[in-house]
Amino acid sequence: MKLHEYQAKQVFADAGIPTPDSQLASDVDGVVAAAEAIGYPVAIKAQVQVGGRGKAGGIELVDNEDEAREAADSILGMDLKGYHVDRVLVEEAVDFVNELYVSVTMDRGAGKPVAMVSTKGGINIEEVAEETPEAIAREHIDPAFGMHPYQARKAVYDAGVDSDLARDVSSILTTLYQLWDDRDGSDAEINPLMVTSDGEVIAADAVMNIDEDALFRQPELAEMEEEAASGDALEQKADEYDFDYVRLEGNVGIIGNGAGLVMTTLDLVDHYGGEPANFLDVGGGAKAERIANALDMVFSDENVDSVVFNIFGGITRGDEVAKGINEALEQFDEIPKPVVVRLAGTNWEEGMEILNEDLVTVEQTLEAAVQRAVEYADEVEA
Ligand code: GDP
Ligand code: MN
Repeated sequence: MKLHEYQAKQVFADAGIPTPDSQLASDVDGVVAAAEAIGYPVAIKAQVQVGGRGKAGGIELVDNEDEAREAADSILGMDLKGYHVDRVLVEEAVDFVNELYVSVTMDRGAGKPVAMVSTKGGINIEEVAEETPEAIAREHIDPAFGMHPYQARKAVYDAGVDSDLARDVSSILTTLYQLWDDRDGSDAEINPLMVTSDGEVIAADAVMNIDEDALFRQPELAEMEEEAASGDALEQKADEYDFDYVRLEGNVGIIGNGAGLVMTTLDLVDHYGGEPANFLDVGGGAKAERIANALDMVFSDENVDSVVFNIFGGITRGDEVAKGINEALEQFDEIPKPVVVRLAGTNWEEGMEILNEDLVTVEQTLEAAVQRAVEYADEVEA
């Protein structure tokens, strides 16, 4: 589960991390009122759960009411990488001289949490990691002992943070780790951690993702989840249908049963040069109605150009899935996007018999099905 920036900032601020003064708004007048309360200049920031909002036109700095109205009007209601913007954070603009990066995440390779610091904040950290990995200092933490103060200081020193700022940045990093640990975080990130002209450090952006399975012991964050999900119609739908669903940025819709199988399909789409639009696991024993709901989900994602179904029958029976696919597709006069199906396991042969090949493309192997779906998506893009 991902918190919105405004929610993550609240969590960070409550723990003592400095954040700019800010207010949430959902219409133009609300933005102006918030800006007046805070004082110009302000930053107006789209509250959608994707990175790179700045580059995509979802963040604007404004100096007065006219500019605020214009920016609010253009950002509210915009489509940002497939996300509808219905709320913005109006925030005191930070007069910064430098942008740092700090984060805590799980390093699965090492089997330990890792804290990271870099002086190359503000820009896409994945690019920094690829091009200049030495610019990111990393410190692994033993979760039984927590982060020792010297570890935070070492990470900050290794990253080359100015010595005048070392104490504040270390303290923020220690707090961030503590939060990550206490609140069952999967990722906690501040990018940029801005350095102001008077040498203050302040969290200008905030990311906090929480382990879904731990939400039962994080009631306060679970409440935020309801609010967080409400910004995205697809995520809301996934909740209603009770699917494990993750929205991605590509155009090949993926439906499968079992997380491992869906991940494999995602990897194969990537392998064949396509880009997955989503992760959607319909779970075990998928009955016809569930299949229809899954199709409804991917069809209502505007980014999707083709769909690949990858079902391995166990408890789930191939004939049941095939019936569900037919029923769902028969409702359309015209199939919205091409669908490719691969069935294996329990009753796959019966399933293949049942599938209406006027409505779907049937492939025998997973590889062939994925390749076909990628081709269909490419044809639409071309
Ligand atoms: P992201 O692009 O979605 O990660 O959004 P961020 O909150 O990280 O903002 C991206 C960039 O917008 C920052 O690196 C800054 O350059 C700029 N920005 C955001 N907030 C402010 C602000 O308050 N003042 C100034 N001057 N720039 C800001
Ligand atoms: Mn950012």
